[in-house]
Amino acid sequence: MDIKLQQVSYAYSQGTPFEKRALFDVNFEIPSHTYQAIIGHTGSGKSTILQHFNALLKPTTGIVQLGDRTVEAGKKAKDLKAVRQRVGIVFQFPEHQLFEETVLKDIMFGPMNFGVSATEAEARARELVRLVGLPENVLEKSPFDLSGGQMRRVAIAGVLAMEPEVIVLDEPTAGLDPRGQKEIMEMFYTLHQERNLTTILVTHSMEDAARYADNLIIMHEGKNVLSGTPREIFKDIETLKQFRLEPPRIVRFQQKVEKMINTSLAKVCLTEEE
Ligand code: ADP
Repeated sequence: MDIKLQQVSYAYSQGTPFEKRALFDVNFEIPSHTYQAIIGHTGSGKSTILQHFNALLKPTTGIVQLGDRTVEAGKKAKDLKAVRQRVGIVFQFPEHQLFEETVLKDIMFGPMNFGVSATEAEARARELVRLVGLPENVLEKSPFDLSGGQMRRVAIAGVLAMEPEVIVLDEPTAGLDPRGQKEIMEMFYTLHQERNLTTILVTHSMEDAARYADNLIIMHEGKNVLSGTPREIFKDIETLKQFRLEPPRIVRFQQKVEKMINTSLAKVCLTEEE
């Protein structure tokens, strides 16, 4: 399912004294099965955009195309329930949304709400706990007896249980230790490949964006200002700084290595010429 934003603007509390414009003429396209990262400084509009991906927010002006559905200001969009099923959003700290008595019931809740049979929902839950790296015996436990990292995995399994085609990750590693962060990012990358998903990662981490995404969309003051492959984006460090972004450590490391190689090569050439 392709996602396309055409001249999308969004204002919170429109028409009130508290009106706050958060997006200005945003245009981009996310082709199916690609891994995209949306990066930008705090307040640049990332969360506002994210909520347009499954029509939680409707643009104030412009058009959001979600597969064959069009979401547009002033028009009633048809069958958004089906779209919401196809786009799974893992919000920040998704474990805060766990509420059932057992992990099993929590993972089954979403699909059963969308008409999936109990047998099928349970089968999905059993497969998914393994996939997110938890032992099967957690299914009967209360989610509130698990560690923070385990709770996050349960919440992720709950989103995956809907079998979305598109998965949107809003700072999925926030609050985890470095090992937990890497495990979660690797898990999503494997899922992206094995399930042929479209993945949209909203992140502060330039390292994760550079490592996993095919393409990056840079947001600045409510506008999409740059887009390209990690290599294209991170080669121009001065432009990044202009958008208050730091180049990722891995790029800095590569540049350092290249510089070292260049310098030693220069030395070799010089020596040879001498
Ligand atoms: P980011 O996710 O990049 O930090 P946001 O999309 O949260 O950016 O915010 C974009 C702009 O919209 C910011 O200026 C922010 O203060 C404002 N904003 C976000 N949410 C609301 C809201 N519920 N009401 C009013 N303004 C908001």
